[in-house]
Amino acid sequence: MTRPLTFDELPLRDDLRGQAPYGAPQLDVPVLLNTNENPHPPSAGLVDAMGKAAALAATEANRYPDRQAEALRADLAYYLTPDAGFGLRTDQVWAANGSNEVLQQLCQAFGGPGRVALGFEPSYTMHRLIAMATGTGWAGEPREPDFTITPAAVTEAIRRHRPSLVFLTSPNNPTGTALPNDVLAAACAAVDETGTGMVVVDEAYAEFRRAGVASALALLPSRPRLVVTRTMSKAFALAGARVGYLAAHSAVIDALQLVRLPYHLSTFTQAVARTALAHADELLGTVEAVKAQRDRMVAELTGLGCAVAPSDANFVLFGRFPDQRAAWQALLDAGILVRDVGLAGWLRVTAGLPSEVDAFLAAVGVLLADPATTPACSDHPAATRQPASGKAGHA
Ligand code: PMP
Repeated sequence: MTRPLTFDELPLRDDLRGQAPYGAPQLDVPVLLNTNENPHPPSAGLVDAMGKAAALAATEANRYPDRQAEALRADLAYYLTPDAGFGLRTDQVWAANGSNEVLQQLCQAFGGPGRVALGFEPSYTMHRLIAMATGTGWAGEPREPDFTITPAAVTEAIRRHRPSLVFLTSPNNPTGTALPNDVLAAACAAVDETGTGMVVVDEAYAEFRRAGVASALALLPSRPRLVVTRTMSKAFALAGARVGYLAAHSAVIDALQLVRLPYHLSTFTQAVARTALAHADELLGTVEAVKAQRDRMVAELTGLGCAVAPSDANFVLFGRFPDQRAAWQALLDAGILVRDVGLAGWLRVTAGLPSEVDAFLAAVGVLLADPATTPACSDHPAATRQPASGKAGHA
């Protein structure tokens, strides 16, 4: 029998050699607070409804799904309308298997060899990785020390790099920082000026933002180069179904048709997502509970002496540990999995159920009692207190 090729012998693309696959460790520990999931499982009633929808979809499983996912996109347009402040049409919304696939389709359509995507780091690493996987160059610019971005910095970076895609994550992962509309408007104005690119505002965590924090959706009517991406993985507690979507001008959706695989969104996915959207009030009811745990973590971690970045998402960045890897391991040894996002001194923790947050805060208390892991805190610009959460948007 012929010897199989080793990994190194494969005719892999040169730019993929030496790369590691993206992904958080999936470990079997009691408290999982590392992937920004919504900790609330679907109710028995919703499980039943999703099961019935999947069973109905199974009766036509011999047929391909609706390639354009028209009904799902109409439901998503309806859902977004209150947040946008104007009536979105089906042809202004597009859906795919998680917002990661939406981001990939954007890179396939607007990026590619010889083109550059711009991002402001630290941010969601997949923006850079998806750019790379689609042959798009990457320009990473730093955020301010408090993890914000200024309108002047965004304008200057766009003029300098002339990117085909600008990624702005709001609220940002892993810092929780939301961007005010003047930053988004500055980015849109700069790409209008250069005429080279699209501005993608990744709003995966939008529903968790605090009162008064704007969504980029409201800018869509006046900004033809703007794309706003969202997901059902977080607020809708539907990470397992893999549904992400975007809102943009209809020409953008026409462009994405050129790169999407035919029938990319299965009949089952479409049916389950539509069922979840029909139960939006119930599902989004969990958002207030998650925000309460987030605000509690911000307050109690601050009280414990940690630096904590203000958060508009369902997670909190805290530190600053002399060795965040050692702190991560100590929490894991206590049965709590948080995320080491590779940001020196910092760890990210997802807002879980009250009992999970209890366990997490108790473990941090133990950690801080050890002088070797005591964090330095008050000297960091991001370490400010945040007021308690109010109601945001439509959530
Ligand atoms: N954008 C951001 C900022 C994220 O944090 C995530 C998930 N961690 C995603 C997009 C992708 O989520 P999904 O593919 O589940 O929609």
